Amino acid sequence: MGEFHDKVRDRLIRYARIDTQSLPNTGKVVSTEKQYDLARVLRDELLEIGVSDVWLDEAHCVVYGTLPSNLPEGKGRSVGYVAHMDTAPDASGTEVKPWVLENYDGGDIVLNKEQNIVMRTADYPNLMNYVGQDLVLTDGTTLLGGDDKAAVAALVTAAEYAVQHPEFKHGPVQIAFTPDEEVAGLAKDLDLERFGAETAYTIDGDYLGVYSYETFNATEAQLTIRGLAVHPGTAKGILINAAEIACEFVGMLPKMDRPEYTEGREGYYFPHTIQGGVEHAMVHCLIRDFDDVNFRMRRNYIERCVEALNKKYGEGTVSVIFTNGYLSMKHEVDKVPHTVEYLKRAIQDCGVEPRVSAFRGGTDGSALSQRGLPTPNLSAGYENAHGRFEYVPVQAMEKNVEILLRLWEIYGEE
Ligand SMILES: [Zn+2]
Repeated sequence: MGEFHDKVRDRLIRYARIDTQSLPNTGKVVSTEKQYDLARVLRDELLEIGVSDVWLDEAHCVVYGTLPSNLPEGKGRSVGYVAHMDTAPDASGTEVKPWVLENYDGGDIVLNKEQNIVMRTADYPNLMNYVGQDLVLTDGTTLLGGDDKAAVAALVTAAEYAVQHPEFKHGPVQIAFTPDEEVAGLAKDLDLERFGAETAYTIDGDYLGVYSYETFNATEAQLTIRGLAVHPGTAKGILINAAEIACEFVGMLPKMDRPEYTEGREGYYFPHTIQGGVEHAMVHCLIRDFDDVNFRMRRNYIERCVEALNKKYGEGTVSVIFTNGYLSMKHEVDKVPHTVEYLKRAIQDCGVEPRVSAFRGGTDGSALSQRGLPTPNLSAGYENAHGRFEYVPVQAMEKNVEILLRLWEIYGEE
């Protein structure tokens, strides 16, 4: 058993017990007050460990810390590491009761005897990858919050090691713990000047050893449709039914380009909301694509649909705005290819096979990259996030501590 095993396990358990669920659309700077409960714990812990420049931004619930370079003349590039403190609104995060199943034998796991909640290998075949490992589990009634507390635990444990081992040489390391990732907060309140990093990594996502430097290009088409209501008995040639036009628009989108029919690097249209009646209707449709040209073509296609509908029903019947967009982090990360090279090398050096994945979503890293801080992602190593069957192999977190330390070392060497 490695030297980080117990430390990282105990940290995850301690953090998981603190309810930090975020909520969408609260209109507040920080969506839920309870995220501060963990922020304060982390601030105090970093201080106690001896991390420098520890600061909790009380207005935005972001925790900062620094490990100054211990190389001659403070050498090395300044690199940031970001993990999020909140848990997803999809499942309860209240009274999480984490427990550890040591030396997993590959069988079904009884999470909760009284309520007969069992995690079956038939439903979750990935479990078989962790035979012989120690799993941090839930009691089947809440999520675990390994997303992203597995990353927080690994980062704090790595920082502790670095402070306690002055002979371990590294460049300047910036650490930040952020709120509201799960509700599209996208690290918007991370103060880049204070953070002071040239490049950064988010640590989030499932499966150990997976990294990504590419996310979707994204936008949302919001269509507003104006109809004209008339008594249906005398409506001939006059009535314009906005609800019908909404359906017609959705019918114009290529049928198979949908989230439920696509995977890998394929993009899609996702008409997720249709509302309205005769006088007024609206359609909200997400557009996602990895490829820049395809992404633009999808946007143009929607504009052409709107044009065609206006030609048919009269100018001004349908209008569209594009909103909630972000661009793939690839645009920024490609400018600093060493970020991906070093990450890959660090994963490899720790005996893990690096696997690249194009991330079918957005991350804090896409938003940070767009703000000019290139930020690829390293997986946190959890499984079944956002649900009651979430779990984290302790050995995955342990490896991530090693990978982080190796990465800090590589940045010092280069
Ligand atoms: Zn996450």
